[in-house]
Amino acid sequence: MLAGGVGGARFVRGVREEVRRRWPDGGGRSEASFRRAQDSAVTVVVNTGDDLWLAGVRLMPDFDSLLYSLAGVNDAERGWGRAGETERVAAELREWGVGWPWFTLGDLDLGTHLARTSWLREGLTPSQVGERLQRRWPLGVRLIPATDSEVDTHVLVADPDAPGGRRELHFQEWWTRHRATLPALAFEQRNIDDACPAPGVVEAIATADLVLFAPSNPVVSIGTILSIPGIRDALAETRAPVVGVSPIIAGKVVRGMADACLPVIGVETSAEAVGRHYGARASGGLLDGWLVDETDAPAVASLEGAGLVARSVPLWMRDLETSAALAGAAIDLGAALRPAGS
Ligand code: GDP
Ligand code: CA
Repeated sequence: MLAGGVGGARFVRGVREEVRRRWPDGGGRSEASFRRAQDSAVTVVVNTGDDLWLAGVRLMPDFDSLLYSLAGVNDAERGWGRAGETERVAAELREWGVGWPWFTLGDLDLGTHLARTSWLREGLTPSQVGERLQRRWPLGVRLIPATDSEVDTHVLVADPDAPGGRRELHFQEWWTRHRATLPALAFEQRNIDDACPAPGVVEAIATADLVLFAPSNPVVSIGTILSIPGIRDALAETRAPVVGVSPIIAGKVVRGMADACLPVIGVETSAEAVGRHYGARASGGLLDGWLVDETDAPAVASLEGAGLVARSVPLWMRDLETSAALAGAAIDLGAALRPAGS
């Protein structure tokens, strides 16, 4: 699965649940080998475009959103960070003028960042660090950062006061401080052309039975993963069906601000336009199947005209049940797309 943070976490929880329900006995394996099999039955390739250095530590927001959410230690009400979080260190950092005053790092969350940074300092790669972080909680899925290279997303905005009339800021500043309200001219993934997929990413895509695109931000989550050299080729070559889930329902983002990103790359905010943007594998695109919401059912016929096998199903993930049902629909579509005998 390719995934970003919030939409990604909801969907991954649904997939984990649905996979457990459909294959409950793990094919008669022993408990230990079953747990290992389950841990690796679902591999999530996680967006790293939001990552950044701040206050001396490395943050990987989408990875941590997935980690906390799958471990059940996330703050479900607020929608990000750890449950039971406190902010004593953040108050001190503010007094020292370190970090960004509008970007609060919770105390428990800082523990994660300190652990990660100390392991990076010891020479571990981000994907090795990710593996260590997952040892603490049995997630039931395997998370891999899409790349070990730092490809932090920057946003080019118009600024009449800046030299040349434009300036660049880190994605997190644009997203969190400005709530994506500064009109963006372009997104830039720094050094992405020199990046390569983290170990295990291409292998996971190549050997998968099914590849899923979570309903994550098509530009700054899925788009970043796709722009890492090697990932598009792996998707083009895999024998597995590739099925995507629309993050757009009835012309609106469900949660978040993806509608501030799509126009920047010239894509309309609609389930149909995003499906066409990913494109059909049969004609050089990325997907075989595309799930749109029931309210977008009228788009199905024209999506099929574009070479995609589209289905309309309920796309709102309100709780574990609705997330699992959506995962089930994606798995079913994948099964229907699998060539006979494979
Ligand atoms: P971020 O990294 O936290 O921005 O999260 P993602 O990139 O994973 O996901 C953001 C996208 O998830 C937004 O474009 C939302 O429209 C989408 N999303 C959030 N909740 C839902 C949901 O319940 N259903 C669907 N279909 N999409 C959702
Ligand atoms: Ca994100």
